[in-house]
Amino acid sequence: MTPDQSLPRDALEGKSPFELRLDQSRGVPDSAVKKALETGDMGFIHSFTTGSTVDGPGVRLVAWTAGCQWRCLYCHNPDTWHLTNGMPVTLEGAADELRKYRHGLKLMSGGFTLSGGEPLMQDRFAVKLFTAAKAMGIHTAVESNGFLGERLTDEDLEEIDLVMLGIKTWGPEKHRHLTGKDIGPTLDFARRLAARRRPMWVRFVLVPGLTDDAEDLAHMAKFIADLGNVERVEVLPFHQMGRYKWKELGINYTLEGIEPPPSALTERACRFFRAEGLKAY
Ligand code: SF4
Repeated sequence: MTPDQSLPRDALEGKSPFELRLDQSRGVPDSAVKKALETGDMGFIHSFTTGSTVDGPGVRLVAWTAGCQWRCLYCHNPDTWHLTNGMPVTLEGAADELRKYRHGLKLMSGGFTLSGGEPLMQDRFAVKLFTAAKAMGIHTAVESNGFLGERLTDEDLEEIDLVMLGIKTWGPEKHRHLTGKDIGPTLDFARRLAARRRPMWVRFVLVPGLTDDAEDLAHMAKFIADLGNVERVEVLPFHQMGRYKWKELGINYTLEGIEPPPSALTERACRFFRAEGLKAY
């Protein structure tokens, strides 16, 4: 470890989220982590990418946060589960980085997306960074599993132009099996966003034999359509790009033999959502 590895960074280097990253904040004292979570003046970022066209509208700058309480069986970034795997970045440093890209992002009808990990594990940092982005005229989006949505006040929600909510499967037991957590808080957050008419996309990962049950898809589609604020549903085909991370981390990976869904299966899933009048891709 170099001496400055424990210090917060003032600049972010573009790096792929698919690379394994561990212990980037080794040496940061627990008291500093606690303070960062309380104040949001420092965040923990796994990686930072520019030019994404798949993480919200237009061309996006994306910061992938560290920390997630869930343990999805198909997670392709299990190295984001622990906060300490993220590099410490000051709020100012992150905002400066946004400033560099603001003109280009506007020209390309894009914006800034916080993904993860689960960005709402660092809710104060997320809100402060979104507030800074909006003050620069940058469109803001968060990709979240919604479990910690109640941490956001109604005022906080105004700083987020788009919520991309992950709904992983349907039914309490299946959800707990797939993610390790209850589905209730995610659905409550979806209802709250709907009641406040906040723009929302739903992201759903299609895993053959795990999340492709017809009845579940029909129930999920009905729930999403009834919300009334969902602009699109993105059906994301499961892939194996994160498998090597599970191996490297020594975590038992149970989806070893599962192939990505054929396009006909993805199209079939989309049809359940379209049948309810939703746009699905
Ligand atoms: S919510 Fe996202 S980051 Fe967290 S375990 Fe699931 S897939 Fe991974």
